[in-house]
Amino acid sequence: MSDARRSKAAHIRHLLETEGDAVAANTRGFNQGRYDAVADLEDYEELKREARGIKEAAIERLPELVEEVTETVEENGGTVYLAEDAADANRYIREVVADCDADRLVKSKSMTSEEIEVNDTLERDGVDVVETDLGEWVLQLADEAPSHIVAPAIHKSREEIARLFEHWFDLEEPLETAEELTAFASDRLGELIADADVGMTGANFISADSGTLMLVTSEGNARKTAVVPDTHVAVAGVEKIVPSVEELAPFIELLAKSGTGQDLTSYVSFLTPPTASPVVAFDDPDTPLADREDDRAFHLVLIDNGRMAMREDEHLRETLYCIRCSACANTCANFQSVGGHAFGGETYTGGIATGWEAGVHSYESAASFNDLCTGCSRCVEACPVGIDIPWINTVVRDRVNRGGEHDRFDFLVEGLTPDEEPGGIDLQKRLFGNYETLAKVGSATAPLSNWLAGSAPVRRGLERIAGVDHRRDLPTFARETFRDWFDARGGSRIDAANADREVVLYPDVYTNYIDVDRGKAAVRVLEALDVHVRVPPVPESGRAPLSQGMIATADERASAVYAALAEHVDAGRDVVVIEPSDLAMFRADYERLLPQASFDRLNEASYDILEYVYGLLEHGADPSALRTGNDNDALAYHSHCQQRTLGLGGYTVATLERLGYDVVTSDVECCGMAGSFGYKREYYELSMDVGDHLRQQLTTAETRDRLVVASGTSCGDQLESLLSRNAHHPVEVIDPARADVSNPDRTDIRSNR
Ligand code: SF4
Repeated sequence: MSDARRSKAAHIRHLLETEGDAVAANTRGFNQGRYDAVADLEDYEELKREARGIKEAAIERLPELVEEVTETVEENGGTVYLAEDAADANRYIREVVADCDADRLVKSKSMTSEEIEVNDTLERDGVDVVETDLGEWVLQLADEAPSHIVAPAIHKSREEIARLFEHWFDLEEPLETAEELTAFASDRLGELIADADVGMTGANFISADSGTLMLVTSEGNARKTAVVPDTHVAVAGVEKIVPSVEELAPFIELLAKSGTGQDLTSYVSFLTPPTASPVVAFDDPDTPLADREDDRAFHLVLIDNGRMAMREDEHLRETLYCIRCSACANTCANFQSVGGHAFGGETYTGGIATGWEAGVHSYESAASFNDLCTGCSRCVEACPVGIDIPWINTVVRDRVNRGGEHDRFDFLVEGLTPDEEPGGIDLQKRLFGNYETLAKVGSATAPLSNWLAGSAPVRRGLERIAGVDHRRDLPTFARETFRDWFDARGGSRIDAANADREVVLYPDVYTNYIDVDRGKAAVRVLEALDVHVRVPPVPESGRAPLSQGMIATADERASAVYAALAEHVDAGRDVVVIEPSDLAMFRADYERLLPQASFDRLNEASYDILEYVYGLLEHGADPSALRTGNDNDALAYHSHCQQRTLGLGGYTVATLERLGYDVVTSDVECCGMAGSFGYKREYYELSMDVGDHLRQQLTTAETRDRLVVASGTSCGDQLESLLSRNAHHPVEVIDPARADVSNPDRTDIRSNR
């Protein structure tokens, strides 16, 4: 195994052990809070659409809005500086601070100021820089970087914070409770703010029409920072500008709900600096307010630092719509386990951080954590402005792949793999990206291939050369493929002329070469409901290469799939898909890969197998033709992440319940496997840690004796590893030909027909 893989695995293991528990408790709490908060909103989707529309329009008009806000702020009496990059911004801020002869600058939380590393710059000049957000202050004392964009010290426990305060301050008695810690910090920070010469804030939004800054905080420190010192410097990325104050409304609703699950944060401040209020003078309490000076200075430092170039980039542009709420991080199963010290770059953390880091720092910074996005897509649903975060991650992965160094064995790999990728791509990625070829060869040479896959020397070699973890069981290839079985039985047993409907059952790689039984079950279920089934040759959907960032290959596969299915769609046949990740290609990812009209047609014609069965039953098909449940048929069901993002998880549960099964459903975001991810040496432990949450849910008194059912291949594989029990696709459960099962410990429910 390469040194890079080994050191990444060690870093992740260390964070799982040291920060994992605190991050998991906090992010899952925020995530649940978001679910609860948005459940109460009648018009949530409309609100999201409105917010997205405002951001799209604002980024479209950005150069014009920069000009407008410059004029407005200057008319108000402030100064605007448009900084090209971090060095330029810091140079300007240093001048402002030096002109004030400032000894201390107090800051409220601002990721943009972290991005330009202004603290280091000012501290080198001898300025005392004090963070006033409690979490940021804790990190400043601990000399650590933030691990979360909204809650920077999310990885620290209360006990650690107490020890830190004890180390730094001469405490009369130890601080223990959260209230005691907060009260101490508040008093201490209050004194530091009172004595400060300059206050620096960020801005969640800036309205171009009035120069108003919107600041959203939980502690009220931002408004003190802005108005106590007589000089206020606000640092904000140019993307924070919206045209008018009215357009701030949906973001007030969405920010707190999306980030922490609060209806509103404790403080939402609208400041239009420089404020006309008198300068605060704590050392002169006797002078009446009316007699005090109101000579305040305000500097708005707008930062480009790569943003205008992101705006011109058709893929990275969406990153600028981000309102930095952190919902994508909180909902991400990997982030929940390992936090932003693994899942982040120089400044930004979580799924969307890939876009930010690639845009404002470097592809190298984005590459250091980009692979932690497994493309499960749970964040897309969570994002209040509907950013396709996995796509941004895929694009960056593709660009990183293309910047790889050529290897002396490239000629060999390129000769053996039918992909569209250049040399230099990581061998591990290339292996998983060409999974169809591997499965084809494995099936054609089974049982030899299966024997080899189980042999210790081969596993050691695979781990060393391609980073495939030896602890993960490899799939067993079937000698007779699903399509061969289907042809050998003479095709469909329901005559097309008399059938209610005609279906093309998509022979995904796993069904065709590995889990042929679930394909057989799907055929029998459809036929039991009077459907004529076809299983034509259709290539792999492109999911495997796409997940490795091999976009050109995925693009070529998408065209080949469409070419193979178009005649069936033309003939009015429905396309039914067993594997949810392939359906997600047809219904979502293909929009990026196919012409719009082709995408629309395939999207409209494609169905998840249980969604399709649900529809047939709703339209009068006879449920008794299927294997129905009885008192012993208690199921524990785990829905696939992409299936849930598509809003399809409910069809499986509804169908199973209608057929008499007692279903308990897991509510974890992800099983942790997410395709190839859990096979990779550097991520194996993380994958199992994420999976442990699911394992706990399926081993309670209520669930442990139930039959385990999962829609996705990788979920099933992961569940079998976690529980040491078989997991089954739901279509196998309702297969009318499956063997009767009376013992829920069932080692197998396969049909004996
Ligand atoms: S990408 Fe979306 S969910 Fe993530 S921080 Fe930005 S706005 Fe929030």
